[in-house]
Amino acid sequence: MKVVERLNAGKAYSFEFYPPKTEEDALRLFDVAGDLKALGPDFVSVTDSSSGAMPHRTVDLSGALKAKFGFEVVAHLTCVGHTRGEIQEICLRLKDLGIRDILALRGDDHNLVGLEPRHDYRYASQLIADLKRAGDFSIGGACYPEKHPDAATLEADIARLKEKVDAGAEYLITQLFFDNAFYFRFLDKAAAAGINVPILPGLMPITGYRQMMNFTQMMKVAVPPALRKGIERWDGDKEGMFGFSVDYASAQALDLLKGGAPGLHLYTLNRSRAAMAILKNVKGK
Ligand code: FAD
Repeated sequence: MKVVERLNAGKAYSFEFYPPKTEEDALRLFDVAGDLKALGPDFVSVTDSSSGAMPHRTVDLSGALKAKFGFEVVAHLTCVGHTRGEIQEICLRLKDLGIRDILALRGDDHNLVGLEPRHDYRYASQLIADLKRAGDFSIGGACYPEKHPDAATLEADIARLKEKVDAGAEYLITQLFFDNAFYFRFLDKAAAAGINVPILPGLMPITGYRQMMNFTQMMKVAVPPALRKGIERWDGDKEGMFGFSVDYASAQALDLLKGGAPGLHLYTLNRSRAAMAILKNVKGK
């Protein structure tokens, strides 16, 4: 079943991984994936972090996760990481591997390592339109409950998002956020703009003060006072921080599901412990 079919069939739970850089990290990721497999996720996704040295990491890892664990895999692809010709080749490889789901993104020039940014596509909507022509893929896109950092206003961003959906995005996955009010407000505004596809909330358990500051500054997402207080309280106490972080994310997840979210997408950072604890809390209720 493709991701969009799973989302339409009921609550869908998913995990996001990134391609490891070393052999040792790859082996560790397979252990993590094995742990998470036991929770029966509806799909997993693999980010596109294209680099000059390792151009095929996303496709290779996607294929390995499908072959080894039987996951439904969503391969991320970015505009800045690939030319139109490369996208066509990747689509052929994905089809050979039995992968039918792609999350199409613009990407960011500053995140490329050892690779000149490509310019065949400027926005994700252009990549999506091309991918729709490439074959029988189900395509998703990204969205930002607190607006994309480049957009002047949330309304302007949502107008562009509508173009992305019209180009062929069948579902959307959100940027991480820590205050559910942003998600619910976003759902209302998206619906008012005529966006009727499932919008899957992305959640990330915080594991430390520095991590929280890095992510929230990079992604321009707000940190509610209760989260900041808890992170400051448990800074330096690994187990205390873990417990607080899992409790916070689990409460967020349960509230989202109660409010009608079509499932949860967990940013795992290639670790299983927090993701497992959160999903167990959620599925146990
Ligand atoms: P777009 O949808 O193209 O939008 C980017 C900006 O341009 C927005 O401000 C939008 O309002 C504006 N815009 C869109 N269309 C137009 C237009 N026609 N004219 C003018 N302005 C326009 N990055 C990676 O490198 N690899 C990944 O694997 C990856 N996975 C991600 C997964 C999720 C769920 C999310 C939320 C983000 C992910 N990212 C990833 C980060 C993403 O690439 C960046 O946030 C990037 O800055 C925007 O990508 P986008 O696809 O949302 O861009």
